[in-house]
Amino acid sequence: PDKYKVAVIGSGNWGSVAAKLIASNTLNYNIFHDEVRMWVFDETLPSGEKLSNVINQTNINVKYLPGIELGRNVIADPDLHTTVRDANMLVFVTPHQFVDGVCKRLAGKLRGDVEAISLIKGMEVKVDGPHMISSVISKQLGVNCCVLMGANIADEIAEEKFSEATLGYSENKEVAERWARLFATPYFAVTAIQDVEGVELCGTLKNVVAIAAGFVDGLDMGSNSKAAIMRIGLNEMRAFSKRLFPSVREDTFFESCGVADLIATCFGGRNRKVAEAFAIHGGKRPFKELEAEMLQGQKLQGVSTAKEVYEVLESNRWFDSFPLFRTIHEICIGSIPPSAIVHYKAEVHPSS
Ligand code: NAD
Ligand code: 13P
Repeated sequence: PDKYKVAVIGSGNWGSVAAKLIASNTLNYNIFHDEVRMWVFDETLPSGEKLSNVINQTNINVKYLPGIELGRNVIADPDLHTTVRDANMLVFVTPHQFVDGVCKRLAGKLRGDVEAISLIKGMEVKVDGPHMISSVISKQLGVNCCVLMGANIADEIAEEKFSEATLGYSENKEVAERWARLFATPYFAVTAIQDVEGVELCGTLKNVVAIAAGFVDGLDMGSNSKAAIMRIGLNEMRAFSKRLFPSVREDTFFESCGVADLIATCFGGRNRKVAEAFAIHGGKRPFKELEAEMLQGQKLQGVSTAKEVYEVLESNRWFDSFPLFRTIHEICIGSIPPSAIVHYKAEVHPSS
């Protein structure tokens, strides 16, 4: 049979590291074509050059992953359609707010035998309710979509420091094993479990808790407060996931995608870092401004996910069961001060 051909849709910080992991394996295993095409949402660098050209000349994504060679078999392509034209394994890894637009452009343009995987942490709330990103991809494109989440700070994996990840699949174990083979390396251990929704909700919701952890850091409240916020956050993650999808498995929260990613992100992530700065400024400088200043084009997922979660709580009248999630969004939009993060029971919900 034909070899599997991989395309990576997205080339930010994690997208570039994912391409590097994949490119090392497509050279190692002959079931895959060597070449990995990576879609670049192109931009002009201060030097006047196009980012995609610089990646192809230097083999380095100088803007989103400086100093790391991706592998010569990674080809940056600014054209979405030529990126996917011959591919039958599609890896989605853009910030979550861009997925809907990307899928609209891809609909009807894919090979008939495409399998997809989403590395994207986030969700979409439409008038008919919340949609996980993997289901946006599978519904809009008519493809099966697995997910890969975990305690995976991209810059650390780029330096080949050991980490674990969880691959969530729904039915086909053989497909899941092929994805695991594409990603796993001696420093990147992948475990496949049959719980797409559980894995994806863990990856999505921990970004909201990471915002709270950043507030606690910015307020200099110490380790006990941070641990308390993480514990309460994990409980709300579990309760929220099970209300949306009763099939979500309890043990998923103990995989890399669950408690491990929560810990990694609450200590080392971008959401934590920018939320810390927000609290240091007393909530007076908006997240958008801090994000642009501190992340140089990389995108926060936690602030918009907090809003999306809040919309779900509001429309289902679930506020009483999720006081932390509710409070995080209200702090993000400036309705209450960052200090409310530990006073929410008294100040925000006097009756609960
Ligand atoms: P990033 O935060 O580096 O975002 C920047 C990317 O967004 C760039 O490639 C930029 O070109 C692109 N972009 C900007 N505007 C766009 C538009 N209008 N349309 C399409 N693309 C546009 O991205 P990332 O770190 O690769 O994150 C992607 C996903 O992976 C997120 O959901 C994130 O939560 C998840 N993730 C990230 C990490 C990490 O450590 N960075 C780890 C695990 C998971
Ligand atoms: P941040 O987006 O907060 O950096 O988190 C990265 C991540 O998802 C680690 O697994």
